[in-house]
Amino acid sequence: MTNEELWQTVLSELELQISRPNFLTWLKNSRLVEKTEGTSLIALPNNFAREWVELKYHKLILGSIRNLDGSTKKVEYVVEGALIKRSERRSVTLKPATEGQLSFQEMKVDPITNLNPRYTLDSFVVGSFNEFAHSATSAVIQKVGVKYNPLFIYGGVGLGKTHLIQAAGNEIKNVYKNAVRVRYVTSEKFTSDVVSAIRNRRMEDVKKNYRDVDVLIIDDIQFIGGKPATEEEFFHTFNTLHENSKQVIISSDRPPKAIPTLEGRLRSRFEGGMIVDISFPDYETRLAIIKTKLQERTASLEDKIIDLIARKAQRNIREIEGILNKLIFHQSTYKQALNLSMADKIITEVTEQSVTKASPSQILKAVAGFFEISPTDLVGRARNKEFVEPRQITMYLFREMLKMSYPDIANKVGKRDHTTAIYAYKKINEIAARNPDLSQKLLMIKETVNKPG
Ligand code: ADP
Ligand code: MG
Repeated sequence: MTNEELWQTVLSELELQISRPNFLTWLKNSRLVEKTEGTSLIALPNNFAREWVELKYHKLILGSIRNLDGSTKKVEYVVEGALIKRSERRSVTLKPATEGQLSFQEMKVDPITNLNPRYTLDSFVVGSFNEFAHSATSAVIQKVGVKYNPLFIYGGVGLGKTHLIQAAGNEIKNVYKNAVRVRYVTSEKFTSDVVSAIRNRRMEDVKKNYRDVDVLIIDDIQFIGGKPATEEEFFHTFNTLHENSKQVIISSDRPPKAIPTLEGRLRSRFEGGMIVDISFPDYETRLAIIKTKLQERTASLEDKIIDLIARKAQRNIREIEGILNKLIFHQSTYKQALNLSMADKIITEVTEQSVTKASPSQILKAVAGFFEISPTDLVGRARNKEFVEPRQITMYLFREMLKMSYPDIANKVGKRDHTTAIYAYKKINEIAARNPDLSQKLLMIKETVNKPG
């Protein structure tokens, strides 16, 4: 097992436990540099990432590496740049920073289209759960901009939305070559482009980037809801494209009418096209997915084990992939076929890992940890500025994550009046909608709540 293979397996496990935006932000450009005397050295692209990963993900990383590689006792982190300096001093030639990452598929993204070539229609298994979405996508590929516009695909996490819409983009590129300009963007990226364009007065760049295309694919549109400037820009982008018969393909975790913060005019635009959903694969389809994935990786597992995975991995396809990674890794490390009970143990580890079991005390701990204040101060009476925001965020998260009643929330943070909780919830909700810094903070805190320890 090379360092690279080990790190890729660790990453694929982390990917299951960390939200997509955080995974991409913090871990995408990481690599395992070396293992010496029981210490694995992980390189991160900059100091901020190093500190953040060490602070928030160290336990996860250490646990995962030690689980996979018995010889690792410690994990240390280093900034990629510092490494180069160090290696110069030692006058050894180091592998270029990118080499270790290239095989991690996220890295091969096409700089112009933003598409990742790993997502293809060939590798997309079709079953009754996604048949409708798949055939609507095929129709769009045949008649770009004409047939279903926009095509709006929604469904829960890990069920193949990103795969399908990226595969559509890749296929369109294959068929029409340079005659059709395709661009893929996540709504987070679109939002941050709009925000920085406003700040730098470079709105023209955004317009050019997203309006000068024949096919615009936008992933996870639900995140633009409640961000007025972004929605405004997207509305105009959408209209420009639509009026010129340019194709728009959108994914979302829910249908337009269920995105409460989405502006009415955008909602009605989306509803003017084709809306299709992806639901959950049934047992037979899960079997087919597992078999396809094994074939792709030229790996094999006993039928009994494949059946066990198909029965137990019901949450989504990402979970199935996580299980396969772990099983295959195990098999190749120990150079022997897995027995059923070992496989069962590994499957259970993965399926239980992704369950969210938050409690109020976990939220308190996560918020206190994030702001580096004590949980006692967090629920105390002191009105110091440094406690006020964390306290409001705590109330907000109680409501949002646990659906607690306002009186219960007030009670938990030592307030007598439940209107304080209502006020806090509304305030945080409103600010988060406009301020990416706060929404990023919330995302990170939620992450640590979901992954305590
Ligand atoms: P979503 O965007 O809906 O959260 P993704 O598209 O990221 O889900 O899918 C999660 C993982 O499962 C990806 O690695 C993807 O390649 C794989 N996957 C999803 N649907 C299928 C499918 N129908 N056939 C094969 N692999 C799939
Ligand atoms: Mg996705």
